[in-house]
Amino acid sequence: MKSNKGILIVVSGFAGTGKGTLMKLLVERNENLKLSVSMTTRSPRPGEEEGVSYFFVTREEFEKNIQENGFVEHAEYVGNYYGTPRSYVEKQLAEGNDVVLEIEIQGAMKIKRDYPDALLVYVLPPSVEELHHRLLARGTEEPEVIERRLKRAAEESEGIESYDYVVVNDDLETCYEELLGVIRSAHFAAFRNEEFIRKIRKELSDYTFD
Ligand code: 5GP
Repeated sequence: MKSNKGILIVVSGFAGTGKGTLMKLLVERNENLKLSVSMTTRSPRPGEEEGVSYFFVTREEFEKNIQENGFVEHAEYVGNYYGTPRSYVEKQLAEGNDVVLEIEIQGAMKIKRDYPDALLVYVLPPSVEELHHRLLARGTEEPEVIERRLKRAAEESEGIESYDYVVVNDDLETCYEELLGVIRSAHFAAFRNEEFIRKIRKELSDYTFD
């Protein structure tokens, strides 16, 4: 049994927890799971592709989109705008696909308010020491930036209890299986299957013994 309408899934986590790799596995291995591509005003990093990593736009373009109600949520994060385009998300959900948003906590809280049925998952590192190592191993950031990111993680950690589930990314494949398990279970939630429950109830009341 799978509820007809797709589930809106929010995945958040500190920088360096491996969310990106997890999201890649999720969409590669599950054709009914779609990853939303956000719009941002930050500059592309080396290797990032327009329309794949993000839609890179100017502040003016972004603000125009806000005015036209083009986002399901948007937030300002470390001096830049980030937003989830509405048209893609609504189309995929209507077609019965699950849509994953990899977004930060302010955006996640807006989704929780506006889409109470959404599923919110937080990805945690196995330890802060391991997180620090991973950030250093990426080699893309200066030590001061890494320190800032860890301080930011401390602030963000305050909101984790507002999420529905947490998964720990120690071993990638294990974490992938756990995340997929959470998503699969969400489809069985009673409140997401009200239509089917109504059908059975109607059949019960109409049933004739002959
Ligand atoms: P980065 O600049 O490192 O790609 O992303 C910074 C943060 O913004 C990450 O936590 C990422 O998950 C989040 N983010 C990416 N896209 C969106 C979005 O559309 N909305 C919100 N609220 N956050 C986003």
